[in-house]
Amino acid sequence: MAKTPQDVLRQIKDEGIELIDLKFTDLHGKWQHLTVCTDLLEEDSFTEGLAFDGSSIRGWKSINASDMAMVPDASTAWIDPFYRHKTLSMICSIQEPRSGEAYDRCPRALAQRALNHLSSTGLADTAFFGPEPEFFLFDDVRYNSSEGGAFYSVDTIEASWNTGRLEEGGNLAYKIQLKEGYFPVAPNDTAQDIRSEMLLLMGQLGIPTEKHHHEVAGAGQHELGMKFAELIQAADNVMTYKYVVRNVAKKYGKTATFMPKPVFNDNGSGMHVHQSLWKGGQPLFFGEGTYANLSQTARWYIGGILKHAPAFLAFTNPTTNSYKRLVPGFEAPVNLVYSEGNRSAAVRIPLTGPSPKAKRLEFRSGDALANPYLAFSAMVMAGLDGIKNQIDPGDGEDRDLFELPAEELAKIATVPPSLNGALEALNADRGFLTTGGVFSDDFIDNWIDLKYEEVQQLRQRPHPHEFAMYYDA
Ligand code: GLU
Ligand code: MG
Ligand code: MG
Repeated sequence: MAKTPQDVLRQIKDEGIELIDLKFTDLHGKWQHLTVCTDLLEEDSFTEGLAFDGSSIRGWKSINASDMAMVPDASTAWIDPFYRHKTLSMICSIQEPRSGEAYDRCPRALAQRALNHLSSTGLADTAFFGPEPEFFLFDDVRYNSSEGGAFYSVDTIEASWNTGRLEEGGNLAYKIQLKEGYFPVAPNDTAQDIRSEMLLLMGQLGIPTEKHHHEVAGAGQHELGMKFAELIQAADNVMTYKYVVRNVAKKYGKTATFMPKPVFNDNGSGMHVHQSLWKGGQPLFFGEGTYANLSQTARWYIGGILKHAPAFLAFTNPTTNSYKRLVPGFEAPVNLVYSEGNRSAAVRIPLTGPSPKAKRLEFRSGDALANPYLAFSAMVMAGLDGIKNQIDPGDGEDRDLFELPAEELAKIATVPPSLNGALEALNADRGFLTTGGVFSDDFIDNWIDLKYEEVQQLRQRPHPHEFAMYYDA
């Protein structure tokens, strides 16, 4: 049973809670927080919210109109395991303090609009999402390569060296070789206890967990598995996942990064997202005897996903680094096709048993720097557009796309090669998002401006590899 405001207020008294921590997600998908004394939280705080100054949140309000209110969601309450003082944490949405309207640029409120829109179409009433964020753990030893330059962890640099090479003047004794950490048992796998602690802690915070394992990249890449959930809860779970991963890593003297491609020439970190629509408690994606047992609704949903992917990648792959992962050969799909079981397709239909409930699709191109509320909302809007306009996705593609000859590959649509490309696609194809007022034009314009700024920041800086190519040229 989900906790109610009354449950939370009772828990605060009964369990001697000292403080309340209100967490909310900014545009970029980072949690921000404010800690308040327990007597500030009253029953109407759950509808009217608690006031705060939102002017210093990147991409939100200007200083002259900065008052905002955070509205805690009682069902998300847990005791924060990383604080010394007994603190009850809750995830919030943001609203305007006077009118009580949802703040247009609050990602969590936007996700609620997407769900309201979904129901209003009568096509479905529930969207289930199963995200799979991957991450790297590196030692927390950093040095600054130059004034204002990027930080490189020692592991990152070692990892970008060739497999099996011994560092000059470094440790000449035996070390576990790169690429040997996946997937043998300890001592090759050196992060078992860290991952176990992360997974168990997530379970204690109410996230339905499933498994954990080392991932394919050689330099300490990992994944924790959680069960699917309804859209907003699934996005909340991603936020909690990252919080737990980062804070447990810190306890062990490590840092965790969700950067999609921290290491050149090795697998990057993705966030595959399983998804399905339901109506009246019934799954809508199963169809007996068709290709991959997909219903017509599921086929159209896929049609919408494949058509609008270049635009919504601006949300699912929202950084300049995201596009360094989207290259062939590292299990990160670049081809906009769908397939049963084929991991080189952007949309995979996992082989599931006879139960219609399990039928779903997996969008594999996205990464974990996505703001999950925005990414899931954008995908559901793309799928919905596919259903409304009966967009046919064509035939399933079962060839291994990583092995296809160039002339065959040229016939297949691909993802944009850069963040800039995705932003241009979003600018040109935004109608599927603005339908029903889910993403406003102002929201999209603001997003494009913020992200274009990142493109410019990178473009203006000499890259380390340019020194390798040109310094002595
Ligand atoms: N790390 C891969 C990616 O970039 C995915 C590996 C997997 O199949 O889980 O998407
Ligand atoms: Mg994985
Ligand atoms: Mg997967």
